[in-house]
Amino acid sequence: MKKLAILGCTGSIGTQTIDIVRHNRDKYEVVALSCRSSAERLIELAKEFDCKTLGIYDETKVREVRAALPNVKVFGGDDALTAVLDGCDTAVVAVVGMIGLKAVLAALDMKKTVALANKESLVAGGKLVTEKGGIVCPVDSEHSAVWQCLRGEKKFKRIILTASGGPFYFTPSNELESVTPERAVAHPNWSMGRKISVDSATMMNKGLELIEARWLFGTTDIDYVIHPESVVHSMVEFEDGSIKAQAGFPDMRQPIQYALTYPDHAPREYTPLALPLSLGFLPPDEEKFRAPALAKQAIKTGGLAGTVLNAANEAAVRLFLERKIHFTDIVDIVEDTLGKTELSGGDTAEEIYSVHNRIYGLIYSKYRGN
Ligand code: MG
Repeated sequence: MKKLAILGCTGSIGTQTIDIVRHNRDKYEVVALSCRSSAERLIELAKEFDCKTLGIYDETKVREVRAALPNVKVFGGDDALTAVLDGCDTAVVAVVGMIGLKAVLAALDMKKTVALANKESLVAGGKLVTEKGGIVCPVDSEHSAVWQCLRGEKKFKRIILTASGGPFYFTPSNELESVTPERAVAHPNWSMGRKISVDSATMMNKGLELIEARWLFGTTDIDYVIHPESVVHSMVEFEDGSIKAQAGFPDMRQPIQYALTYPDHAPREYTPLALPLSLGFLPPDEEKFRAPALAKQAIKTGGLAGTVLNAANEAAVRLFLERKIHFTDIVDIVEDTLGKTELSGGDTAEEIYSVHNRIYGLIYSKYRGN
């Protein structure tokens, strides 16, 4: 039995992870569950899986959870990301945002395997995470695809991520400014949380994934191509010109399960790809969607560039969801912030958190009164 701690258990990836566990009760034991603030849902899940360790980041909810489950250990605040990991073998880190870095660093320090669905921890703190040297299994579909393509390979030339293009790839540039949060969170191919849906709409999601790939696979030779059907999840090119691609019906449960069953492709119920099928691969439009180019620049710059890009984006997405700024302002703010911030440094977790908080705070307070 693999002992799992699922952080972010009420979110989109967390819920799908739990679904996989539900179908494989003989293989997995849920020893810890943690979420941001959904006390009621957390209590329900704890009962379903007879889970004895819980975390709820919102400390005002700790008492409610303790009252409902007096025989369970309940942690609040940062402990909901770190102390809950004590009894697990594998930590599924599916929390959203920069707080994921705390969980990932703690898990690696405790020699746990990390099934990583949190992008921000690698984008903001990839160097620190990599230096820890533990086992990080990517959950994101693109990185799982690369990981699957690299099985049994010693060397490769280049990584090519695929990008659906998001819901506005074919929308004329002059209509983007008026995009509402409701339209931005409705993705055509994937069902996802709000933050990542907005990131997908601005294509910052692909930018974050380029930076993630840089750290996961130790290369800066990473490109991307627009592939609207989301059937090929990414590709790897080798020295002899051969390209391996990993494909399948777009369903996050495949990469989530593979992160848990690696190195095996374990059986599961799935929707087969209906073949024959025609697929398109289109060039990116980096004038309309500048986010991936900003991320590529951040990879070249190194230092704190990823941390600053991520912090500015997190703040800007929140402001957009709160209707304080336009859709097109998100990437403008990220670009502007990268241009006027000192980007060298970033060697310690403390420095990364402090730069993140400073940049996030600066941007959020500048526009919150809009
Ligand atoms: Mg992805």
